[in-house]
Amino acid sequence: MIDNFTCFYVEKDAAGKVTRGVCSLPFDALGADEVLVRVEYSSLNYKDALAAGGHPGVVRTLPHVPGIDAAGIVEASTNPRFLPGQSVVITGNDLGAGHWGGWSQFVRIPADWIVPLPAGLSLKETMILGTAGFTAAQCVQALITNGIAPDAGEVVVTGATGGVGSLAVKLLAQLGYQVVAVTGKSQLASTLQSWGAKQVIGRDEVLNATTKPLLSARWAAAVDTVGGQTLTTIVRQLRDYGVVAACGLVGGTELSLSVHPFLLRGVILAGIASAALPYDRRLRIWEQLAGPWRMSDLNLLATEVSLSELEEKIQQILRGEIVGRTIVKI
Ligand code: NDP
Repeated sequence: MIDNFTCFYVEKDAAGKVTRGVCSLPFDALGADEVLVRVEYSSLNYKDALAAGGHPGVVRTLPHVPGIDAAGIVEASTNPRFLPGQSVVITGNDLGAGHWGGWSQFVRIPADWIVPLPAGLSLKETMILGTAGFTAAQCVQALITNGIAPDAGEVVVTGATGGVGSLAVKLLAQLGYQVVAVTGKSQLASTLQSWGAKQVIGRDEVLNATTKPLLSARWAAAVDTVGGQTLTTIVRQLRDYGVVAACGLVGGTELSLSVHPFLLRGVILAGIASAALPYDRRLRIWEQLAGPWRMSDLNLLATEVSLSELEEKIQQILRGEIVGRTIVKI
């Protein structure tokens, strides 16, 4: 019988100020969902840092436990699909957003959110990938589905040293694509090259503030984790029938575009919504990541922290300073 569990807890104090830190809570605070999972690893994503600040666009109510990713062992289950002792992975759905998340010794969740640990990956590796890797894989899948083959030409990846960006660079390079990495951290050019980038450029090259409907055609495709003016520029820089997989908003949420890239160049803007991906497609993405798209040396991308070390990392990711993936050992 477990009485208490440890988690990273976000709440509002009497003055309405958001406070956060590691604390111990009574077990029944986890609610009554079908499957109880003892978490071994979680991870830090940009969305988690927003949740840790109580951002109303991510968290519906406080108090809250962030962590959109969790990997661990089933402790108890009222659903026959999952048995105690089974290794499982949870990413997205409502975990760490509307529902308490993986920065916790335990999560209690609906069975439909859970994926059995894919054969070929360890629990730790699934969290090095986490929602970031899952998202990068969906972006790559979107390019392939829309006709972008490895010999198509240059594929630009923005926010390239971040979680989604680093894994997109690595995966695309491994599949034989010619990757151009866009970063604000020019000092990390050789690191990006070691992940497979053929070329590294600064953020300014994909930031054109003019209102021209089209810019010189340059990229065959793109994975954009930044949004805003960066995505606006990339759409106008894509070549005929170019594809951009758009997943991020660290640089802004508004798009100021005309229809010309779509009507004159056949450009495809493919949206990626990891949390909402239906279960069968979710399984297929994990099978890809564990099988033909399995990335080598994942450990080299990861920094491991404890719950009590998360505070510093939250500040860093909000400043855009994180490199690669941060995983949380529970
Ligand atoms: P990270 O912080 O790890 O990566 C973001 C990277 O973007 C930074 O490392 C930095 O890379 C770059 N960056 C940061 N701020 C700016 C800025 N103001 N302008 C331009 N570039 C900037 O975050 P994640 O990888 O976790 O997430 C990336 C984005 O993708 C977030 O917006 C997140 O919400 C979104 N996301 C969306 C998902 C979906 O389903 N749609 C799923 C997962 C993530 P560099 O210094 O190399 O330029």
